[in-house]
Amino acid sequence: MAMNKILFFVDIYKWLISLIFFLTGGKVTIFFVHTNVQLNVELNYNGFMTIYKYAKDLEKRIQKTKVSGSSVGFVPTMGALHEGHLSLLRKSKKTAEITVASIFVNPTQFNNAEDFKKYPKTIEQDILLLTSNGCDILFLPDEKEIYPNEESRQKHFDLGYLETILEGKFRPGHFQGVCLVVEKLLNIVQPDFLFMGQKDFQQCMVIKRLIELMQVNVQLVICPILREETGLAMSSRNLRLDPSERIHAAQLHQALASIKKNRNKQNFLSLKNKAVIDLKNNGFNVEYLELARKNDLVLLTDFNEKEDMILLIAAFLHDVRLIDNLLINH
Ligand code: AMP
Repeated sequence: MAMNKILFFVDIYKWLISLIFFLTGGKVTIFFVHTNVQLNVELNYNGFMTIYKYAKDLEKRIQKTKVSGSSVGFVPTMGALHEGHLSLLRKSKKTAEITVASIFVNPTQFNNAEDFKKYPKTIEQDILLLTSNGCDILFLPDEKEIYPNEESRQKHFDLGYLETILEGKFRPGHFQGVCLVVEKLLNIVQPDFLFMGQKDFQQCMVIKRLIELMQVNVQLVICPILREETGLAMSSRNLRLDPSERIHAAQLHQALASIKKNRNKQNFLSLKNKAVIDLKNNGFNVEYLELARKNDLVLLTDFNEKEDMILLIAAFLHDVRLIDNLLINH
């Protein structure tokens, strides 16, 4: 199926627009219906996904789902979907009866305006990927739907220590923005299961804390990191790297893998110093490379084989910021 043949209309008119595409020679019929209430995308060989733009419509649908006794799995994303996102979706489909995904590039979690502006957007392809992977519902709000006024951006979350280290330290305000949007999404979707990636390990810890603060009954399921063949962690931001840079960027994972492999030969500090120098010499600007206890992210000065640990790194390759991590189980 030629994806570039598929046009996607959102937010054009306030009244009903129906548009039917028959792809020449193919078995596929794609049927878009756009109203001011919701937009439906149907791939007739593959089931049906409903796209909701408005929270109140999605809430009604969720109510019906709950009344019928079905469990709800939720996969929040910022779009530019890749296999990593889809692995969360597949896990949700195995675990819950109804799977909801969301795509919203959340402005409040970007501490860098340029990064926000350059965040990749591939919405037509995302919709096809979600539909063909059996997603039941997509929540696709615009900014006003999530943040109708200034007040809706103002809440503060008590994240304690978690906000003072690693991503919290280098991206001030980032986790407040993440909590702001995830709290709203959880209130709308009311999932039984929430699927997030270990790729953003600290974010998972933050969301665990948010769930405690909200006192909601949702089970956080942390899914493993999907990687390219080279070892590079899949990421939407990888779209901003050209093919040779993508191969180059795999050095981040290689650095962590080498520290893990050599942990019985040298202490953490000397392995870290060597890795940071090597990465710098290869064009990376390393923000942090740390070892932490897996349970609570308390930073460690050296390996302690009695504990589960995690290595975490953030580095820029020119202006693209990449993160990765690697578990060291005892
Ligand atoms: P994002 O769209 O970057 O906000 O990511 C949405 C979700 O997908 C988050 O829970 C991420 O941790 C998860 N995710 C991103 N990259 C990967 C990956 N390579 N493997 C598994 N999950 C991922």
